[in-house]
Amino acid sequence: MAKTKAKANPYQQHEDALRSKQRELLDSYERDKAAGNALPDDGIQDLADKAASAYSKELNFSLSDGERNLLMLIDEAFNRMREGSYGVCTNCGNEIGEKRLQAVPWTPFCIDCQELQEKGLLS
Ligand SMILES: [Zn+2]
Repeated sequence: MAKTKAKANPYQQHEDALRSKQRELLDSYERDKAAGNALPDDGIQDLADKAASAYSKELNFSLSDGERNLLMLIDEAFNRMREGSYGVCTNCGNEIGEKRLQAVPWTPFCIDCQELQEKGLLS
């Protein structure tokens, strides 16, 4: 990896935000996973029995689609930081506003393209 002025990362703040969000998601995932594996054999078991098979599946895949999607977006944002294309809309190439990056540092789109995407107009 190229070592060019690591300290001059203009997106340090966003990188930090991305990391803490990523950690937050992974932490809750790990916690749920651990809880799922560590279900006690007694007591609670009766209560849980009925829904057990369906429920343990839930626990093992406790990340919602939205959370999984978010983790993916965060990953991609890190990639763009490495490549130096972070902060630029992946669809139209326009700069993404600083305020927008602060609110959603993982976004790949500028506000215009985001709207298109939400209307299903982006491929
Ligand atoms: Zn755009």
